[in-house]
Amino acid sequence: MAKVADHIRRANGKTIFSIEVIPPIKGDNLKNLLDNIEPLLEFKPPFIDVTYHREEYIERPEPDGTIRKIITRKRPGTVGICSAILHKFGVDPVPHVLCGGFTKEETEDFLIDLHYLGIDNVLVLRGDPAKPFDTFKPKNNGYSYASELVAQVANMNRGIYLHDSDHTMTPSDFCIGVAAYPEKHFEAVDHETDFKYLKLKIDKGADYIVTQMFFDNQKYFDFVKRCREAGITVPIIPGLKPLSTRKQLQVLPRLFHLEMPSDLVRAVDACDNDAQARQVGVEWCIQQCRELTQAGAPGLHFYTMGKSDNIVQIAREIF
Ligand code: FAD
Repeated sequence: MAKVADHIRRANGKTIFSIEVIPPIKGDNLKNLLDNIEPLLEFKPPFIDVTYHREEYIERPEPDGTIRKIITRKRPGTVGICSAILHKFGVDPVPHVLCGGFTKEETEDFLIDLHYLGIDNVLVLRGDPAKPFDTFKPKNNGYSYASELVAQVANMNRGIYLHDSDHTMTPSDFCIGVAAYPEKHFEAVDHETDFKYLKLKIDKGADYIVTQMFFDNQKYFDFVKRCREAGITVPIIPGLKPLSTRKQLQVLPRLFHLEMPSDLVRAVDACDNDAQARQVGVEWCIQQCRELTQAGAPGLHFYTMGKSDNIVQIAREIF
């Protein structure tokens, strides 16, 4: 199997198609997820990302009136799904690896498992705060920022593991992706600070970038320009999500800290139902993809969020 950076290199300037999938809610069937991936294989994704979902803290009222605090994980299974994708479809899986909820040692074990499974790629992320909290807190002896975790993976790639410097270790060989935000990460005070830390992730060893979704291509073009000016030379893969319900006009900006272009807002507002809005979302995304492809974007990375029919429609027009 191969690394994302090699897939991009081999495409020789042609834009590649890739997707991100989300593990099912605990107890749901994996078959639905795999059935959703299958129609997308027609477009030959060289890699498929699988998100990671950290623990959540919930309070459950008991019959005796007391409150029980529970730690739960709603969408476990990232590693198992990666293995299923690798073996069932022969496609390179890209597990997301988080700082949040992990100590350095747990991260090392996690990476060793991935290496033994023959997984060659990871997308390294800090992760969001554990629900219901507002601020991110690292686990004791965990990392506060993705750049620190990138450094750990890069060290393993050099055969440097934690606490074991006395004998020669087998190096891992991960291609490392990181996230970036054309419209700025919501916690960053300004774009400059955000760029500084993005550059740090690259300097620590990241090989490529995947962006947060955006609906205005100009944000991506400006972002790429500023990255290049800042000396960031790695491929920058745009992340795309076709809008699929009228409600998403409000939900996506709130969740992902992005702006909806006024033309898109007007078109969706004119829809009588979600089926019409979904079609508007598809057409908008097709236009985005055409422009991004013409501008030489290395890939188009689709956030499927559990559904693939609209992405099939889009990919048929582009690939
Ligand atoms: P970082 O790069 O660590 O940055 C976080 C913030 O800290 C930024 O504001 C940055 O400017 C600032 N910062 C960075 N370094 C420093 C420093 N040294 N000192 C001070 N400030 C600093 N979340 C999940 O839980 N699971 C997933 O699977 C997942 N997949 C994602 C995939 C993509 C493509 C994207 C774009 C996001 C994904 N996320 C996922 C969400 C992500 O975890 C959050 O956006 C998180 O808030 C930031 O992660 P990061 O890796 O960009 O963090």
